[in-house]
Amino acid sequence: MAEILVLVDHVDGVVKKPTLELLTIARRLGEPSAVYIGSVDAPAEALAKFGAEKVYAVNDAEIKGYLVAPKAEVLQQLVEKTSAGAVLIPSSAEGKEIAGRLAIKIDSGLITDAVDVQAGPVTTQSVFAGSYTVQAKVTKGTPIITVKPNSAAPEEVAGAGAVEAFAPTISAAAKAAQIVASQPRQATGRPELTEAAIVVSGGRGTGGDFTAVEALADSLGAAVGASRAAVDSGWKPHTFQVGQTGKTVSPQLYVANGISGAIQHRAGMQTSKTIVAVNKDEEAPIFELVDFGVVGDLHTVLPALTDEINKR
Ligand code: FAD
Repeated sequence: MAEILVLVDHVDGVVKKPTLELLTIARRLGEPSAVYIGSVDAPAEALAKFGAEKVYAVNDAEIKGYLVAPKAEVLQQLVEKTSAGAVLIPSSAEGKEIAGRLAIKIDSGLITDAVDVQAGPVTTQSVFAGSYTVQAKVTKGTPIITVKPNSAAPEEVAGAGAVEAFAPTISAAAKAAQIVASQPRQATGRPELTEAAIVVSGGRGTGGDFTAVEALADSLGAAVGASRAAVDSGWKPHTFQVGQTGKTVSPQLYVANGISGAIQHRAGMQTSKTIVAVNKDEEAPIFELVDFGVVGDLHTVLPALTDEINKR
């Protein structure tokens, strides 16, 4: 069975959930091999728990100091070494840049932002602001696929997790841009918006008061999002914006509060598995999209909902 390379997304060796999703997807395609690039020991146990048969470990403190180019070279060399059946990469900004560079290097087809991958590999994507769902297949070289967070539920299946140290050759060109300083984003205690299993968003209907939205988010362990109207009003920074010109989210549950459901907002959230909206206007377009809708004032509905959740 062909090896399926999964690029591990991690913070100082702590594996992020999208990687576990990719390992689950990789099992549909072949034998999952994790590719870990980091300056602390490879988290082999965590990766094996979700089916990684092999863990290629590049422990190179130097690579950490560079941007994405060396990572593409690591993958290139591993594809050549293993004759991999496919490469799966998380659909982050960094992941997509690595994937693009890798595709050029190995002269292969590339599919970005898949929301599902099945044997083939055949991918599913949501395109043109979500107006179409497309099934696609790479027809040249080793398929390279970036997959959006929350595209699969991670399944625990024991893999061998055999660690194999890998020493790549990194070209001078790949080291041409270097990180000179990096500060972690201020921790909010909430999950990252694009990776969260639950997102609770607020729009113009909050009137700028996100207290009820945030309290509901915290009771559900959710990330907080916002419509562009809320962002443009200065109520939340742009990093919170969901939509065509913001972030695309695909959580298990999306709760839209005081958001009308404009096409540009939908583009960023309509692949969510379950959609709930609270809006005081029963004619609001968001209700065309929802699985559950509540017609009411969010400042009344959300605290009642939060109280009920906190009691359980
Ligand atoms: P509104 O459309 O004003 O809706 C507010 C809603 O709140 C209404 O439905 C109202 O009934 C309800 N409401 C009011 N008070 C309450 C209350 N107390 N309780 C409950 N409900 C209440 N938008 C995005 O979100 N993301 C994008 O990325 C994005 N990109 C864009 C790109 C372009 C090129 C363009 C042209 C537009 C873009 N927009 C984007 C803007 C988009 O068209 C809408 O203007 C925006 O989404 C509206 O935000 P909203 O739903 O919060 O506000």
